[in-house]
Amino acid sequence: MKIARFIYRGKESLGFVVDDEIVPFYEIEGLPPYLSYPFTDEGILENILSIKDLSPYPRISLNSVDLINPIKYPGKIVCLGLNYWSHVEESGREPPSDIILFMKPRTALAGPYEVIKVPKYVRKLDYEGELAVVIGKRGRDIPENDAYKYIFGYTILNDVSARDFQFRDGQWTRGKGFDGFAPIGPWIVTKDEISNPNNLYIKTWLNDELRQDGNTSDMIFKVPEILHRISKVMTLEPGDIISTGTPSGVGIFDKSGEKLIKNGDQVRIEIEKIGYIQNKFIFI
Ligand code: MG
Repeated sequence: MKIARFIYRGKESLGFVVDDEIVPFYEIEGLPPYLSYPFTDEGILENILSIKDLSPYPRISLNSVDLINPIKYPGKIVCLGLNYWSHVEESGREPPSDIILFMKPRTALAGPYEVIKVPKYVRKLDYEGELAVVIGKRGRDIPENDAYKYIFGYTILNDVSARDFQFRDGQWTRGKGFDGFAPIGPWIVTKDEISNPNNLYIKTWLNDELRQDGNTSDMIFKVPEILHRISKVMTLEPGDIISTGTPSGVGIFDKSGEKLIKNGDQVRIEIEKIGYIQNKFIFI
């Protein structure tokens, strides 16, 4: 199933996306109509997954709603650095022997098609197309071979990065933490629809130019191992987002010179079996 958060006639709701239509949760008994953060409650997640037949319920056209970021208040957004072989190679660094973690604040989240406003003093704005995992079950010390039980679904995240701040600071909180630096969506695809998250194509376009053309099979640490290693440090909770790193093709390491995001540019990220997000960036 695809689960989106949207605004329709001024009201916020969640809904199931079916082809080019949406079945709002408020049409279905037992589902939370307008709850702001349903993904933090495991019981509600189970209710959502228990809905198998959507045919009895009224639908609205996907064209008539505004899709917004699917998880309003995740407990945390944990991201991996340097987790694709191709990206390690282009960066000229040694492959990491363990996961490299950083976090983004939830105020960085933005909708899948939102215009992102960036302060003018950011000089080196870059994109990173990434597969994001949404946690569905609370867990600590998750064994690798149990990891999929803790996953609710998958979505797309752009790990937008101000390279000037990222490299100057020596750690990444500021460079990757600006408001709007984590556009996400367009919806969550539940895990039953993606049998293997470690074999999905992932592509990023800067305007019309295909910049990243990778596959999640190129990840150094695969999804189950990522959950295992993170949960040795911190408890994972329903609604948490884990962004799994980016393949090669980021703007900063382009061979012919930097291909960074300029005022008015559009970045589109597409992942197999999920869909795409596309954001325009405006410097203010
Ligand atoms: Mg990244």
